Amino acid sequence: MGKRNYYDVLGVNRNATDDEINRAFRQLAKKYHPDVSKEKDAEAKFKEVNEAYEVLSDPNKRRNYDQFGHAGNDPNSFSGFSGFSGFSGFSKGFSSGGDFEDIFSGGFGDIFENFFGGGAKKRRGFSNQPIKGKNVAARVTVTLKEQMFGKTVKLDLNVDKTCEACDGTGAKDPKKDIHTCTTCDGYGYVNIEQRSLFGVIQSQQPCPDCKGCGKVVTSKCPKCKGQCHYRGKEVVEIELPKSIYENQQLRIREKGNYGLNSGPRGDLYLEISVKPNKYFKRVNDNLHLDLPVSYLDALLGAKIKVPTFDGYVHLKLPANTKINSVFSIPNHGFLKVQHLADVVI
Ligand SMILES: [Zn+2]
Ligand SMILES: [Zn+2]
Repeated sequence: MGKRNYYDVLGVNRNATDDEINRAFRQLAKKYHPDVSKEKDAEAKFKEVNEAYEVLSDPNKRRNYDQFGHAGNDPNSFSGFSGFSGFSGFSKGFSSGGDFEDIFSGGFGDIFENFFGGGAKKRRGFSNQPIKGKNVAARVTVTLKEQMFGKTVKLDLNVDKTCEACDGTGAKDPKKDIHTCTTCDGYGYVNIEQRSLFGVIQSQQPCPDCKGCGKVVTSKCPKCKGQCHYRGKEVVEIELPKSIYENQQLRIREKGNYGLNSGPRGDLYLEISVKPNKYFKRVNDNLHLDLPVSYLDALLGAKIKVPTFDGYVHLKLPANTKINSVFSIPNHGFLKVQHLADVVI
């Protein structure tokens, strides 16, 4: 069974004030405290109440919960997400929109070591290092209502998949057709001598025959033609958070191209477009609607029905209401969320 909604657990409504939440918590904590309670599953209930209170009494956690549900405060599903700062995923010097070829597990360090000295000679190539797959980008269009309430979208992506025929090795027969490169003797680089004004300079360059991986494939896999990957379709399901902003970028971990040598998949960068709505529009976190009323209603005052995305609301129009008057109806707009450059899922 899934977790119960925290608001239901505390028996308060979604717009409850901090005071109401505190009061509800104190009452329930008294009722279910395992030392005093005679209820059957007091301990489990007490835990549940505590957990709900911990989230709803903290403004940041509550906002995450309102937008993303239980996942909003679950460290496993939102890495680096707490407090909306310090995205840990970016600590590898990797930024969105920039270099889409991220080499995994300190790959750069090894390359520099291999090419520019420092014990490089003892090490052979880096053919077996896991390499993270490249990131892919996609755009998804939602309606204004879906933007408000969130939506699960299914995307048909074209990604580089690991070739099953050769298990990602690129060889027709991985046991027979992969050999140590003879040009570089498996080191992955070659020494080049250049004459200059200062004498002969030696430098190292990636091996032209094995492209630096130290291995050559003598008979290529017919399915992927030695590329280790092939382009294939994949359906990816993503839960869009509530109240997401237009053009906000979502980074979805490991839904991009498959990696090499069992490296992890790249990430998917998803941008959100919103279809214009004929009647409603979003302004900051508010939902705006131009509502025509009759001349008589405006003159004499009336009770009018106002459509919103979660049902009709009655509004009392005062007598002598002027054209273009603005009335605000609380709690029918968007959730207040911080506008983030990048949300990581
Ligand atoms: Zn080579
Ligand atoms: Zn293959």
